[in-house]
Amino acid sequence: MRPVVKLRSAAARVIAEEAKASADGTETGGILLGQDHGETLVVTVAGDPGPNAQRACSRFKRDLAHAQVLADQAYERDGSVWIGEWHTHPRGPVEPSELDCRTYASHLADASLGFDQFCRSSSSHAATTAGTMSPWPRG
Ligand SMILES: [Zn+2]
Repeated sequence: MRPVVKLRSAAARVIAEEAKASADGTETGGILLGQDHGETLVVTVAGDPGPNAQRACSRFKRDLAHAQVLADQAYERDGSVWIGEWHTHPRGPVEPSELDCRTYASHLADASLGFDQFCRSSSSHAATTAGTMSPWPRG
């Protein structure tokens, strides 16, 4: 059974705000931090891209050092861990691209990351509220 993803309003606000940067035609995104309860994934924090993120029309690479700082802060605050990521597709579609799928599959295959499932969210900047979020189960 696919788990349910619950997005805290603070996290949703960050995505809505940050996604506006994609009005320039390039992707933006960040990590998703929260708690994995098995049947429910609770997203407590949506990260911003960070100062060294690489943004292109159909590619986004997060600022890893920035993401690590956010992850450390969230873990100390309420035990939140890295459970996924979000990024925009300025020109659509909302579905993950082939590259996205390969990336998620490699995250899940990497045992050192310890993911059982990976939560992803894409949204077009024009339709942020219509963005989808769904867990990406292993296997
Ligand atoms: Zn993508």
